[in-house]
Amino acid sequence: MASTILFAGSDKYWQAYREPIAQALEGAGVRAHLTDDPATPPETVDYIVYMPLSSLRDFGPYRRVRMVQNLWAGVERIVTNPTLTQPLCRMVDPGLTRGMVEYVVGHAMRYHLGMDAHLFGQDGIWRHGVIPPLATTRPVAMLGLGALGQACAAALRGLGFPVLGWSRTQKDLPGIECHAGEAGLEAVLARAQIVVALVPLTPDTIGLLDARRLALLPRGAFLINPGRGALIDDAALLAALDSGQLAHATLDVFREEPLPPAHPFWAHPGVTVTPHIASETRPETAAPVIAENIRRAEAGEPLLHLVDRGRGY
Ligand code: NDP
Repeated sequence: MASTILFAGSDKYWQAYREPIAQALEGAGVRAHLTDDPATPPETVDYIVYMPLSSLRDFGPYRRVRMVQNLWAGVERIVTNPTLTQPLCRMVDPGLTRGMVEYVVGHAMRYHLGMDAHLFGQDGIWRHGVIPPLATTRPVAMLGLGALGQACAAALRGLGFPVLGWSRTQKDLPGIECHAGEAGLEAVLARAQIVVALVPLTPDTIGLLDARRLALLPRGAFLINPGRGALIDDAALLAALDSGQLAHATLDVFREEPLPPAHPFWAHPGVTVTPHIASETRPETAAPVIAENIRRAEAGEPLLHLVDRGRGY
């Protein structure tokens, strides 16, 4: 019998995902009825493909559901839903990862090469004396060594940057100096000239970059945050920028999104705001991941990218 898959998202995303998911299911040999109809009787639904902007909040009636597949990598908005007792999987999508690598490398290179001086400083003065250093002399901290952090770390390493990685559990990654725990974080921050935050938002990571930890960085360091806004203490960040402890920050994610027009980040000369566009799940590369997970569930095999509710990611 065909399974019923409910796509719980907006019409825009349904239009983008409908065909790729249908094709991927066919390719995976999964017989399924795919619908976005919110009136689908809950007791007939086997799988939910979920976007947090969906109106679906109460998972209680979906007693037959064998898996909820989140369409985004971050799960902080769904993982605490008390009605969700079904297995929850997060998205690990090659297209999403590729986009994040491009964003992080692009902004790291902007800082590394001092591009702003040339983009915004064309004043007729020939400053030939300032040649950018090589990447091999500029340590980068990668906070978070998951799907996205590892890919970004590898790309930066490939360009020559010494990469200092930090994660909850100790990792052993080729070419990356890996650290874990509070002492590891302090060791990493003490040497990093560019910091990239790619940890998920959990009770343990809220306010991760506070005044004390920002003060550990070498003076004049740069920060790139495509992780989550609440990883950073906003007031501490502004103070670090004002004092020169931080030279500049590129922020893609915020405690409140959209970032309110009156927020000081918009006007601060030390902040570049990007509107949560670092990367996004791509239908063509994510659909096979969704189909493979449903195939696994049907076959009773272990699910990919299962969220640990206790850890929150
Ligand atoms: P993963 O779950 O694959 O990796 C998370 C990493 O963070 C792991 O290395 C994990 O450690 C580490 N981590 C988690 N908690 C802690 C902690 N308390 N202390 C130290 N390290 C910790 O996530 P992804 O790489 O797929 O995604 C990371 C985040 O990126 C997402 O949660 C989301 O917030 C953000 N994101 C932003 C996007 C954007 O457009 N701005 C797009 C997509 C994602 P360990 O390996 O030991 O488990």
